[in-house]
This record gives sequence, structure tokens and C-alpha cells, in this order.
Amino acid sequence: MALIVQKYGGTSVGNTDRIKNVAARVAKYHAQGDQIVVVVSAMSGVTDGLIKLAKDIALLPSEREMDMLLATGEQQTIALTAIALHALKIPAVSLTGAQAGIVTDSVHTKAKIHNITPRQVHEQLDSGHVVIVAGFQGETAQGQITTLGRGGSDLTAIALAAALKADLCQIYTDVDGVYTADPRLVPTATKLSEISYDEMLELASLGAKVMQSRSVEFAKKFGVVFEVRSSLNDNPGTLVKEETKSMEGVVVRGVALDKNQAKITLVGVPDKPGMAARVFKALGDATVNVDMIVQNISHGGGAAATDLSFTTDKPDLLKAQKVIDGLKPEIGFREVLTDEKIGKLSIVGVGMKSHTGVAGKMFDVLAREGVNIGMISTSEIKISVTIDLALGEAATRAVHAAFIG
Ligand code: ADP
Ligand code: ASP
Ligand code: MG
Repeated sequence: MALIVQKYGGTSVGNTDRIKNVAARVAKYHAQGDQIVVVVSAMSGVTDGLIKLAKDIALLPSEREMDMLLATGEQQTIALTAIALHALKIPAVSLTGAQAGIVTDSVHTKAKIHNITPRQVHEQLDSGHVVIVAGFQGETAQGQITTLGRGGSDLTAIALAAALKADLCQIYTDVDGVYTADPRLVPTATKLSEISYDEMLELASLGAKVMQSRSVEFAKKFGVVFEVRSSLNDNPGTLVKEETKSMEGVVVRGVALDKNQAKITLVGVPDKPGMAARVFKALGDATVNVDMIVQNISHGGGAAATDLSFTTDKPDLLKAQKVIDGLKPEIGFREVLTDEKIGKLSIVGVGMKSHTGVAGKMFDVLAREGVNIGMISTSEIKISVTIDLALGEAATRAVHAAFIG
């Protein structure tokens, strides 16, 4: 008898037929005598719909209230999934994140999991139930409802698999597995049979939304091997696991395009110690995630000044702007510019550690496509550039063709 954690994303539970389909798959595993914990997302479009309702009322709604609102999406799905299993005469019970013992910090809308005490999960499994847990949500030690960041049901599944010491963790989604690029964008992308945690982590945090990046970080930390596979067929998926020596043979494992980034530039920041520290400390305190940072020395007349640019997730742009506006009297920069029309294009692969000339080749492909490069950032296993959003998809296909095919 195995303990299996299965996670079904928004499209996989997108209507009642899909939910019945999930129940049928769970029933097959149940018939083999396995113990099953099912983590579900909100039905596709529900979370976005709830966010839109709130934003129709206020541009910057209270983050506590957003969590209260968004957590309802997953609560609908757990109950419907339990009802679908009951219809198949399978004992099943739904639990909220809090009931499943998921305790988080109090950073509303992007809370981190502190610990999990899955007492009720164990009790229900022991009494023969399939346990259905609401993804994406938890509760602070003080009993406040929190959510784990967009795509956070992946994290719920992986964290529960670690806490329950599950034998198997399966992430069911609307594609067959992890591809060399988003298959919706790059028709020639191919499915990977396996990928290392580090490559998956980079791809996820660089825009491949097939997995939430924090969930991959968690899986790496706790050694949770998981499989990404389709809820619509029985094809084998992609195994995400520790790097093996043979993985280094491939230079570029995947290409990702993040269309959800925005750039903020502070023009004319006084060129003296402590300026960047003040800006990024204030952004950090406001829980704004900052990704790429570039500072240019301007050689204009008068006192030396620099331009400081950084990228953040689009949904954080208003919050970031508010923080920066608040710093103006203290720092005395000239103006703030924002640009939401950027895309971040990245290539990822552990093989880059032992190959040279990869950046040059990528930049050459972009030059031939007439794509101008904005910011650049690199690590041992990735190269990212910001480009004009309008050229993003064509550039992604060109880079994929040059490195992968
Ligand atoms: P779920 O609702 O199941 O969590 P998501 O929509 O969050 O599903 O993620 C699945 C989607 O991720 C796919 O439909 C696909 O378009 C997109 N995607 C982006 N990059 C990749 C990639 N490299 N491999 C597979 N899918 C990808
Ligand atoms: N429903 C949440 C979202 O849309 C969480 C998830 O789907 O994983 O972000
Ligand atoms: Mg997802």
C-alpha cells in the first residue's frame, strides 16, 4: 500500500465533468488499496475573477482581505471533489489548508509555510478516507487565513508530500509534462523525461508557470521527487529530481519567457553610499519581490548621479511605485519611470557550467531577429535578458530553434 499525493490544477478541475474525471482517476488508485491525498486548485478562472472583483472596488485592496477572498476558490473545489467521490461510493473528506495543519508566517498573499501538523490528514487516511486538501492556503499561528502566492497549490502538494513522507507525488496539469519551452508558444518544444531541481527552479522562476518556483525550492530542500503529468491522459510525465552527471551533456534544457514583469527606473539618484540599500530595504520591507537590478553611472553635469533600474512582478508594480514615491523626499532622485511592456527571455541548463560561448550565441540570435537587449543577468545555469514584450514570442521561438530545435 502506497501513500500518494496528487495535485490537480485549475484546468483539471475547470468544470464538473473535469471534477468527475479527477474522481474517476482517484478511484482507480483507491481500488488498488493506496492511501490518497488530493490537493486541488480553484476551478480555472476563479482566482482571477475574485481578484478582478476586489480591484473593481480598490486598486490596492487589503492583503488580509484578499487572502480571505481568494481562499474561497479552493474551498469550492475541495467540496465538489469530495461530492464527486461520494457519488462513486468512495469515502472522502475535504479539509481546508488550516484543517490540514498548514501553518504559515503572516505575509499575506505570499505566505511561507512554517510547519505542517497533518494530524487530521493522518486520522482520516487511517479511517479509510481519501483526503482532499485545499491548495494555496494556510493559517498563521494566530488563526489568520493566508495564501501561498499564485500557483501555490503546487507548494501545498509538495509540502504535504514531504510532511506525510509520501511514496509518490504527482502534479496533474493540462500538459503532458515539462517541455523544453511552453508548448503553447513554441510548437517544436519537446517533453523532457526528467529535469533537475535546479533547472526546474530556474525555469519556474523565469516564467515557466507549469510549476510554482517556491514549490520546486521546497522539493529540492526536502528531497521530494515529483512527477508532472497530464490529468487528461495516461502518458508518462516528467520526473523532477536531483541532478545526475548525465544531465550536464545538454547545454540548454529549456527556454522561458516571462511576460509578467515590469521595470522601474529611478532617474538621477545621488551617487553616494547607501542609496541602493535604502531603496531595496524599503521594497523588501513592503514584500515587493525584486529580480534584475542594473545601475548606470550618468556623466551629466553637476553632482554625480546614477540611474537605478529594477524589475518586479507586474502585480507588485503599484505597491513598488508607492514605496519609491515615499522615498523621494529622503533620497532626492529626479523622476521615476515605469515600463510594463517588457518580457524576460531566459535559457536554462546545468550544461552551461561546462560550456563557453552560450551567451554570445544567444545574443547573436537576438541580434539577427532585430531584438534589442535591455537588462542582462546570468548565473552558472541561466542567462536572462529583458526585451520588448511585443517581440517576446518570436524571440523565444528563435532562441529555442537555435539551441534546441
Ligand atoms: P495548473 O492549473 O495545472 O497549475 P498552470 O496553468 O499553472 O496549470 O501550468 C500549466 C501551463 O504551463 C501549461 O498549460 C503551459 O502552457 C504552461 N507552461 C509554461 N512553460 C511550460 C513548460 N516549459 N512546460 C510545460 N508547460 C509550460
Ligand atoms: N488558485 C490559485 C491561483 O490561481 C492557486 C493555484 O492555482 O495553484 O494562483
Ligand atoms: Mg499552476
